[in-house]
Amino acid sequence: MKITVLGSGTSVPNLQRNSAGYLLEEQGCRILIDFGYGNVHQLLRLGITYHDIDRIFFTHPHPDHMCDLIPFLFASKYPLNPRTRDLPIVAGPGFTDYFERMMEAFNHWLTPDSYKVRITELDEETRTFDGLEVTSGKVQHIEMSRGFRFANAEGKTVAFSGDTDYCAGIVELGRGSDLLILECSTPDDMKVEKHLTPQLCGRIAREAGCQTLLLTHFYPPCDMDSVREVCQREFSGKIILSDDLTAVDI
Ligand SMILES: [Zn+2]
Ligand SMILES: [Zn+2]
Repeated sequence: MKITVLGSGTSVPNLQRNSAGYLLEEQGCRILIDFGYGNVHQLLRLGITYHDIDRIFFTHPHPDHMCDLIPFLFASKYPLNPRTRDLPIVAGPGFTDYFERMMEAFNHWLTPDSYKVRITELDEETRTFDGLEVTSGKVQHIEMSRGFRFANAEGKTVAFSGDTDYCAGIVELGRGSDLLILECSTPDDMKVEKHLTPQLCGRIAREAGCQTLLLTHFYPPCDMDSVREVCQREFSGKIILSDDLTAVDI
């Protein structure tokens, strides 16, 4: 299983850090977890187009986690080269209604006619998608927010927090995982409610007992030396401070 960070940034535009999005590749399947702005171009840098994505998971519908769904859907209607495979989307309860309102807001310019969008809403459960066992769990950010844990046939596991504050849900999703991907929004002395800091990320990683911790979703005040220093006071395992296009094989 290979995970590539498409965007290690946030809502604040930054030429070095695109907004949140991750590509998970397993057995020829290409899955997105979140799809923030800049991600469509990041995929192109990897040689991946709107034809090549098999499924999209959304942790929540904040713009920095889903904006590039708009150009993706519009490109997929390009009359000379339309997408023809259905597009499955998985997200928390209420996403279908949200999606339909978005289609209406764009006067159906995004609504597909050469393929179908198939939405599955997950609450707190485990299901199999594309040969991966996927567990969704509540995290503390907005009502629709869900974190995800993916396990492949060999039992390798990766968990994604999306945006969250410290909560039992993300510790549980990350329990014993090979790779735990946590948002790390701000330094501890600038803590923002419903987001994590380096100290809390380290604490979650320690309590979850993950192998490797990958931090992402850095707002501009984050200083990488200090993020690592604070985080490793809590967690003695491997810590990766991601950049855009950082890739990890597990
Ligand atoms: Zn965010
Ligand atoms: Zn958010």
